[in-house]
Amino acid sequence: MRIDISKLRDGEILSVSHEYDSKALSLEQCDLRYLTPLKLEGTLGRVGDSLFFKGNLTARIENICTRCLKAIQKSADESFDLYFPVKDEEFLETTDEIREVMLLAYPVKFLCSENCRGLCPHCGKNLNEGPCQCAGGEDKEGFPGSFDKLKQWHKKQQPEDK
Ligand SMILES: [Zn+2]
Ligand SMILES: [Zn+2]
Repeated sequence: MRIDISKLRDGEILSVSHEYDSKALSLEQCDLRYLTPLKLEGTLGRVGDSLFFKGNLTARIENICTRCLKAIQKSADESFDLYFPVKDEEFLETTDEIREVMLLAYPVKFLCSENCRGLCPHCGKNLNEGPCQCAGGEDKEGFPGSFDKLKQWHKKQQPEDK
């Protein structure tokens, strides 16, 4: 977002609100999705050759746990406090800084919880929902029954030779 600061006098405060297209901001990477635009509410103040930009960013986001692959939706709510040195500029470009605030607060790599147990490497069950059948033991059955069922189904589909 480009903000016109040409008329902002020393000591003056400017209210800023903006809605960012999260796609244009390239905030979506890998499994991180923005379900709403990114909303900004903030204030901009000038003291000499310094601009202070304080505000709050909100959006609804969805991320996928890198351990258990569960999709988690949540409300992102992040405040920021930025400082820009200025001289005779008429405009202030803040897009890169805003993008950085969100990427640091809501990184692409994400865990649904610190203690996420992830998926069983054998049967693929989400171990946060309880132990699986093959827990601790040897993986004798692999994917239980599914392959046998497939073989039976295949036999039925083949007409017998006469
Ligand atoms: Zn998880
Ligand atoms: Zn298992």
